[in-house]
Amino acid sequence: MTTTSRYHSIKINKKKCIGCIHCMKGCPTRAIRIRNGKAVIQYQKCIDCGECLRLCPYDAVEPITTLQADLKRFAYKVAIPSPVLYSQFGTQTTPAEILHVLQHMGFDHVYDEARMCEMVSTAIEIYLDGHKTTRPIISSTCPVVVRLIQRLFPSLRKLIIPIEPPREMAAKNLRREISQRHKIAPEDIGIIHITPCAAKMVSINRPLSMKRSYLDGAISIHDIYNEIMMRIKKTNRSLLLDTERPVSGIGIGWTMSGGEIRGMKYHNTISVSGVLDTIRILEDVEAGKLKDIEYLECLICPEGCIGGPLTVENRFIAQSTINRLKRVYGEKKTVDVRTVHRLFKEKFFSFEHSIEPKPFPGLDADRAEAIKMLNMKENIMKKLPGKDCGACGAPDCATLAEDIALGVANLNDCVFCKGDRHDK
Ligand code: SF4
Ligand code: SF4
Repeated sequence: MTTTSRYHSIKINKKKCIGCIHCMKGCPTRAIRIRNGKAVIQYQKCIDCGECLRLCPYDAVEPITTLQADLKRFAYKVAIPSPVLYSQFGTQTTPAEILHVLQHMGFDHVYDEARMCEMVSTAIEIYLDGHKTTRPIISSTCPVVVRLIQRLFPSLRKLIIPIEPPREMAAKNLRREISQRHKIAPEDIGIIHITPCAAKMVSINRPLSMKRSYLDGAISIHDIYNEIMMRIKKTNRSLLLDTERPVSGIGIGWTMSGGEIRGMKYHNTISVSGVLDTIRILEDVEAGKLKDIEYLECLICPEGCIGGPLTVENRFIAQSTINRLKRVYGEKKTVDVRTVHRLFKEKFFSFEHSIEPKPFPGLDADRAEAIKMLNMKENIMKKLPGKDCGACGAPDCATLAEDIALGVANLNDCVFCKGDRHDK
């Protein structure tokens, strides 16, 4: 079982962890065990959903993201803030103020991701127009959902829309434009996403549908929040009149569940958020129940990206702020549709390659051995109390039985079996 966090978005701070089992009980893929009183992540099973980060009461689950200092090596620095950032500072702070402040925090350029969100919405529509036979088409925006499909629902990979998410498309475009305009080598331009979730970092380090990400890192909204807030308080608002404003409420709306499909002409769509509801709806897709649905948008965080674990604001307050911004900026399309059609034809938005299946490792690669171990697991299950208490360090009795069959746990780990010496 791999124990490396190198390609993942979270790690356990052993000094802070008290082994309370909250994270282990909430992990949807049963990737956490408690060993010697501390949580241990089995990274092979981790999909970087961030539930453990959300659930830990002791801040012992830490995100792995980029620090601003990591950008020093670049000659030209670009920030692409997720529009979620606009929802973090209350209703009195405008996106223009936030973009202005960011521009003065050591970035040479700040690009509003909402603009690319609207372009990608149009590209999705063009794709749906041209692919009428396969349904439902599933959004590729949330990197955790794509990884979940790759791991738990590999047969659904062909339904994932082969269009890259806005953050990647924005970085691709900016790298090309800035390199040409300022005569800077593309590799000397550092482009970072300001992100509400650590999973974006994984999609940068281990992209699933391209050789290399166009982004160089992801800074957490949580990490950058205080400095933005402090600068906003000091900002002379009259300076902001000429600052570029986000183009539309459609792009800003992408931060919430349902936002991706809101500006589209297709109405036979479903939006789902949260880990468990996403798993349930994907099970329905697998069972063939959603063939009349045009587009399925799944976001792993509750209520969408505004519920990301690296945000600061209560997600319902954030939702209210985004709704107000949508009213202010309007929900009319402002994108140049002809440009999007041209870029679509040039395959600007397209995946570079298809997503490989990567199912979770079974009990054994050898079929005969796997059946033997499955029988062993079932026999062990009969000896366990079925209370799923978690005191053994595994999330439930079935997982402990599997761990015992795999030889990484012992029947004696069960507090109810202890002392039953002949069962060991
Ligand atoms: S929730 Fe998990 S990481 Fe946090 S203290 Fe409890 S066992 Fe440790
Ligand atoms: S990020 Fe999600 S899948 Fe990974 S250990 Fe945490 S809860 Fe489990």
